[in-house]
Amino acid sequence: MRILITGGAGFIGSHLCDRFLAEGHTVIAVDNLLTGNMRNIAHLQGNPNFTFLHHNVVHYISVDGPIHAVLHFASPASPIDYLKFPIQTLKVGALGTHNALGLARSKGAKFLQASTSEVYGDPLVHPQHEEYVGNVDSIGPRGVYDEAKRYAEALTMAYHRAHQLDSRIVRIFNTYGPRMRLDDGRVVPNFIGQALRGEPLTVYGEGIQTRSFQYIDDLVEGVVRLLNTDYHEPVNIGTTEELTILDFARIINELTGNQAGIIFQGERIKGDPQTRQPDTTRARTILNWESKIPLRDGLQKTIEYFRHVI
Ligand code: NAD
Ligand code: UDP
Repeated sequence: MRILITGGAGFIGSHLCDRFLAEGHTVIAVDNLLTGNMRNIAHLQGNPNFTFLHHNVVHYISVDGPIHAVLHFASPASPIDYLKFPIQTLKVGALGTHNALGLARSKGAKFLQASTSEVYGDPLVHPQHEEYVGNVDSIGPRGVYDEAKRYAEALTMAYHRAHQLDSRIVRIFNTYGPRMRLDDGRVVPNFIGQALRGEPLTVYGEGIQTRSFQYIDDLVEGVVRLLNTDYHEPVNIGTTEELTILDFARIINELTGNQAGIIFQGERIKGDPQTRQPDTTRARTILNWESKIPLRDGLQKTIEYFRHVI
């Protein structure tokens, strides 16, 4: 297949490029480097099956020749990033998704939309299954991301229903691993960076909010399996291993040997979800997928990566 990945120079996008190239496909990564970095794909330069296109996907995407699949991963993803780029976040979710869908339609390609657990907002149902419609504050600080992704899902389903587009929607839960930006503000790079510098870890609020952290390789496997089905409703991909942010901080200090401890510093962003854990029944049933990599194993690999970056 000839596969186009928007956001291909980002954390997840670059791992998808690697996976599809390893399977013998041809990959075009499209990215405007708003939050991504050429370092993530530097090892692919010179690969005859790989092309990089520096382009902002809120503008018309023009590519010659056949395309068999379009994976739309372009979007700021860290709360700090989307607070810094609120309008870009809304535009890439709305106009960017429209252009990516239009490209897929014109090429007769499959389409896969990268959605998020944030479509559930600060959830009132636990764990979150795909039929839960969510609890989102449209005008809160996180609304720019949540509503962009909800609109992107709506537009994807509209193309599927109105144009019979062969579409997929993956709802990604917190994913971490090598190539995350050290300064992207998310809890994994923040804590690991602090720990490797021998600083106390900054827990926001009381640290009793929960998350479920999956390693990048598990996510990539889920995305590939979803692309290979003909299932069109959203599918959660995430681990069910849930823990509080305070316990997460303790694990990072333990794995890095950081003696500086933890400080409770900073308010949580308004609407910061209190709990988050996917119901993965659908992924298990339809994709025969479940996360495999235990938290501590994935964190060890990620810590190793950040040791080299720092
Ligand atoms: P990332 O910031 O590393 O990657 C996003 C990429 O999109 C970057 O390379 C950025 O430069 C690019 N981009 C942004 N706006 C663009 C535009 N207008 N045109 C072209 N490129 C643009 O973040 P990530 O964690 O790799 O996230 C990738 C996707 O996965 C996002 O759509 C995000 O919403 C989704 N997602 C990620 C997570 C997670 O835990 N990492 C969770 C849920 C959903
Ligand atoms: N968080 C924290 N300290 C940090 C960064 C984040 O306590 O230095 C918390 C944040 O308040 C949230 C959780 O960690 O409850 C996960 O935050 P992240 O930015 O990684 O992504 P989110 O899951 O909120 O989208």
